Parts: sequence; C-alpha cells; structure tokens
Amino acid sequence: MRRISVFGATGSIGQNTLDLIRRAPDDFDVVALTGAHNIKLLAQDAMALGADIAVTSDPARLAELRDALAGSGVEAAAGDNALIEAAARPADWIMSAIVGAAGLAPGMEALKHGTTLALANKESLVTAGPLLLGEAARHGATVLPVDSEHSAVFQALIGEEMEAVERVIITASGGAFRDHPLDALEAVTVAEASSHPNWDMGQRITIDSASMFNKAMELIETKEFFGVSPDKIEAIIHPESLIHAMVGFNDGAIMAHVGPHDMRHAIGFALNWPKRRSLPVERLDLAKIGQLNFRAPDSARYPALKIAQTVMEEGGLTGAVFNAAKEQALDDFIAGRCGFTDMARKVDACVDAMLSREGLQNATITLDSVQEADAAARALTADITGTAKG
Ligand code: NAD
Ligand code: MG
Repeated sequence: MRRISVFGATGSIGQNTLDLIRRAPDDFDVVALTGAHNIKLLAQDAMALGADIAVTSDPARLAELRDALAGSGVEAAAGDNALIEAAARPADWIMSAIVGAAGLAPGMEALKHGTTLALANKESLVTAGPLLLGEAARHGATVLPVDSEHSAVFQALIGEEMEAVERVIITASGGAFRDHPLDALEAVTVAEASSHPNWDMGQRITIDSASMFNKAMELIETKEFFGVSPDKIEAIIHPESLIHAMVGFNDGAIMAHVGPHDMRHAIGFALNWPKRRSLPVERLDLAKIGQLNFRAPDSARYPALKIAQTVMEEGGLTGAVFNAAKEQALDDFIAGRCGFTDMARKVDACVDAMLSREGLQNATITLDSVQEADAAARALTADITGTAKG
C-alpha cells in the first residue's frame, strides 16, 4: 500500500486524482486531504477514503469541518501551518494541486521529508523553481510534472540526453477567444472567459487559458523544470489540443505526445511512474479525428507570451513578481475591477516597474524573499488601473 496525500483535493485536479485512487482502493492508504472552502466535499471524500486527516486552509471553517467529520475518526485541522504539518506527515506520494502561490510552502515541506511530489501547482515552479528543485535534490526527493504539457515533455525525454534537445514546443489551444475579433477582446465578460473550448478545469486556469497567461506560465515552467534555455522554448497554437507538447532533437526528429483531453492521463502517469498502467481515459480514434492543425500565436492577441520571454530571460525573483501580478490582475478581472485586456497591461507594467527599481534578477530565492516579492507585486498591480474600466 502506498501512502498518499492530495493537496487541493476538492479542486479539478484533486477530484481527478481521487477518481484514480478510488479505482484501486487496495493500492493506496490516504494520509491527508486538503481543501479551502468546499468543506462538505472535503469531509465526504476524507471519510469515504479513510484519510487520517482533513485540512482546510481557512481557519474560520474549522468548526464546520469538525462537525462534518464528527464520529468518523478523521482528524480535522485548519490554516496554513496545518497544511505544512499535513505535508510533513509520512507519505510516499503527494499531489500538489492547490491553486496559486499558496501551493509552494506545502510542496517544499513534502520534499524535505523525501516525499515524491506530483506537481500540478505550476506556480511553485514559476515563483521559485530553483528553490523547489534544489530542495528536492538536497533530500533526494522526486518531482514529477502533472501539467499535461510537462508530463508530455517528460515522457518524450525518457531515454534521451538533454544535450540532444534542440527545442521544446508547448502546444496551446488558444483558449476561449482564439477566433474572437481582436478589438472586441477588451469587452469580454468573466463568464465568457471562464469557458474552455477543450478542457474542463478550475475557473482561474480557464481564464488564464483565454488570456494565454497559462501558456506563459507553462513556458517558464518548462525552463525551470527541464533546465532548457528560453531560446529553445516555443508555444504553438494547436486548436485540437491532442498533441500536448513536442520535443525536437538535433537530428531533426520531433517526438510528440498525443492523448485525449483528460487530466487523468498526466495524473495517472505520475501516480504509476516509473511504470505505465492502464488508465480509464478515452483511446483516440485517429481516423475519426482526421487532422491536426497548427498556427503561430499572434502576439497582439496574446501579449502574455512576450512577458514570459522577459521573465525567463531575467530569472531570479522575476517569476515570483510575474505570478503575483498575474494572480492580482486575475482577481481584479474576476471582481470586475478591470477588463480582460487590462490584465496583461497590469502585469507588464508591474514586471517592468519592479525590474527597473530592484535587483530582482540576482536576488536569492527563499520562501521569505518570494513572499516579499509576491506581496509587493500584488500591491503594485492592484494600484495600476486598466484603461477599459477600474
Ligand atoms: P481548482 O480551483 O479547481 O482547485 C484548487 C484547489 O486548491 C481546491 O482544492 C481549493 O480548495 C484549494 N485552494 C484554493 N485556494 C487555496 C489556498 N489559499 N490555500 C490552500 N488551498 C487552496 O484548481 P485546479 O484547476 O484543480 O488547479 C490546481 C493547480 O493545478 C493549479 O496550479 C493549476 O494551474 C494546475 N493545473 C490544473 C489543470 C487542470 O486541468 N485543472 C491542468 C494543469 C495544471
Ligand atoms: Mg497545461
């Protein structure tokens, strides 16, 4: 039996992870499940899977969680420290599927204890890649990518030498507005931005897909995780989203990872690694699919990609600033304080301003310095008003 914890268990990735665990109840012993506000679901899953502890990140919801778990024998806890304590509990494998920068500290704690970290939380790599991977190396812990593109790159690289890698091509669906008139983008609503043409995901990543901030994050994630230089990393629009990523080698070969739009593939790959086991995902009918299309991303439509290039080139704490600015701009858009296209303007202005006034590139990356850069970037971004509204 492998001891397993799922951080962000109530979210989209978390629920897909639990689905796989439920299908093989004899293989897994569930240690901790964590969530934020959906206490009912958290308690229900913790009891059904026989978890040792359920943790909500929100201390105000502890009593509610205790009530929901009463008599079940599942412990209840709340708050950021409780998340860290849960990450310190002995486990063989932890899914890191909290959304946002809040995922970094529990992931770091798990690595300290040598636990294998299945990393869906891309923000950890964007904000503090060298810190996270340094911690993993120090403790001999494994980090496995769960973002579908990075799982695809990881799989394409099995048995290969990094010296032979010429390019990494990350595919993008183009999001909700890939064919929307450019001059109408300014006025799109939160509801319109929250629907994805191909994938069913949490609201924040879905809006980030429409703005391509998600792809921007993934380019940075590629640089951090695989140690590939920015000039070798490309994004390409692939509307079918069936090729998740490609790796080009120095002999001209390109290895492409093809699979259905189902996160249970990347999650299951990380869960079963280093083996492959059968997964309950659709088998593609290529004749029925007929064709796969590609086009270059339009920089006017997707300004986030250019900002990602700057972040990759500057390094240091620039990623932490970028991620925090993006999270703040997204909060502002969701709350109606700025328009859709204002998000990129705000993030660009914040990254520019912080790069010119501080030594971000050469700063040492620690949990504290990341938190400081994060707070400063959020405050600055909140103050930058958009042109459409706000
Ligand atoms: P989601 O919003 O559906 O779920 C997020 C989870 O984090 C929930 O359990 C929520 O309760 C918890 N949470 C939210 N705020 C928290 C906080 N401050 N502290 C602790 N827990 C908190 O998100 P998701 O779509 O499942 O994405 C999770 C992560 O995986 C993100 O980093 C996302 O970018 C990444 N990811 C998601 C997908 C996908 O298909 N959904 C694909 C690739 C990568
Ligand atoms: Mg992805």
